[in-house]
Amino acid sequence: MANETEVTSVLKDFFARPAEERQDFLQQTWCNQCMEMDLGMKNPQEYKAGERTWIEGDCVKCGTKIITEIVVEDDEE
Ligand SMILES: [Zn+2]
Repeated sequence: MANETEVTSVLKDFFARPAEERQDFLQQTWCNQCMEMDLGMKNPQEYKAGERTWIEGDCVKCGTKIITEIVVEDDEE
């Protein structure tokens, strides 16, 4: 059983974000496989666990799973 301090990741609705924001997140990527940035991401899924929010998807070039962490600004809850 998970204890109370452990956070479970929750699947969020990435497509609820504004189109502009989605585009940025899908373009600003880093792929460990290609060792290249900004190749792009497909099949995005947004997760949240505690204070952390990130987007998981597949590298457009090689299909490897990539993760983009979202840095939440102070004015955003
Ligand atoms: Zn790649």
